[in-house]
This record gives sequence, structure tokens and C-alpha cells, in this order.
Amino acid sequence: MKFYQLTKDPSPRYTGYLNASHKWGLPGVEPCPTCKAGGGWGVEYPCVDLSSLPPHELKKLSDPWPVTREEIERLREVVRPLVPPETRLEPGTMLGPLVGTGLGYFGQLFMQEPWVLYMRREALERLREAGMRGLQGCPTQIRFRTKHAPELLEMQLQTQGQYHPDCLPPNRRPPCPTCGNEFRERPDPIVLEAASLPTELDLFRLRQAWMLIVANERFVETVGRLELDGVLFQELEVR
Ligand SMILES: [Zn+2]
Repeated sequence: MKFYQLTKDPSPRYTGYLNASHKWGLPGVEPCPTCKAGGGWGVEYPCVDLSSLPPHELKKLSDPWPVTREEIERLREVVRPLVPPETRLEPGTMLGPLVGTGLGYFGQLFMQEPWVLYMRREALERLREAGMRGLQGCPTQIRFRTKHAPELLEMQLQTQGQYHPDCLPPNRRPPCPTCGNEFRERPDPIVLEAASLPTELDLFRLRQAWMLIVANERFVETVGRLELDGVLFQELEVR
């Protein structure tokens, strides 16, 4: 089985643009006193609904301003009962529907950033009918200033699989004793470890590098057969 990285189609006909953000999320974390690492950048879980939480907690979960590690730990436990069991609750994890405005022309599939995938509802339905597995589309709250506004769903993808150890750059320094930061650099080129890749999903995020959206050969063939546009597929080495 071959595997591919999804990237946006840079063709100028795709003028679609979203000015939007997720309704809730975990804040960033204050810089570590030892290694200065901080901030936050996490996976999107757009199907999560936090609206049952008390207003004072929702206020904290709507402000990305960095907080202490202790406060991140506390907020994780506040949201944990409301998220899927495998959810990675890193600082900066985005939760709930995307809210904002959109304009321009969108393909059947759409990527604005390399780590978020949207589909028009009809594209998702056709892929599901064709037997594609692991596709969870979440409603967005986007107001379009466009004729024939698309109904865009944001994909909530499972995180699975890892890099082949051979492609990982050597660690130049030991992990931070205070926060555990491993100072890992992103491998280039990327090689995936065959045994770690899911056999029951056709589209997923790489667990070790969740910003990487990966499709298998079945998915790529199906997108081509259904003539769904808007993204390109780049084959990844698997060992
Ligand atoms: Zn540190």
C-alpha cells in the first residue's frame, strides 16, 4: 500500500479564503523557565461540543493567551469528559466548530493551512458512499459573501502511525529537565514506518507529526475516480 501527503492545489482558480477561528481551545503555555519553549500549537477537534461547561470555564477556553502549566493541566481535566478518548490535549488544541466568514471559490476538497482539511458536504458523502473509512466531517459556522456558498465541513481525523526511526534527525541536546521538551527537528525527507500505519483508515494524521495529513492509495484513487478537486497528493516513502 502506498501513502501520500495532502497539500493544497496552488492553482489560481481556487480563490477560497476563510477568515475564521475555532470557538474554543486550550490556551498556550507560558515559556518554560529553563528552555524558554512555550506557546501552543495543537490538533483541531472541530466536532467537540463544550457548550455544557459553566460560563467561567468557557471564558478561559476562549482565550488563547498563555497560562501556567498547572492551569493547562486543570483545563485538560475540565474538557476531557467531552472529547474522544484518544484526543491529544496539547496547549493550543482547538476545539469546537470553526466560526467566521468566507469568500471566493472553493474546490470539492479545500486546504487553507497544510494541517487542516475541509470538504464540501457532497464530496464527503460521495467518498463515504465509495467506502472510504475514517471520515468524520464537522459542521462549520461560516458566513459566505459568495454566490452559491459551499457547505464546508471540517475533517476531524484520527492520529495514527509514526516516522521510521531511520529518518529522525539525531538529538543535538538532551531533553529539557523541567518540561521534557525533546528539541526534535522535523525529518527531511519524511519516511513512514510501514508497521505503524493504520489498515482500517483511509485518511489520518500522523501521530508523531499531527500537522501531516496522510491518505492511502485507496483514498487517492477514489478522489481521482470521483474527480474531486482542490488538493494534491505527494507520495511518501514507507519502509
Ligand atoms: Zn523546558
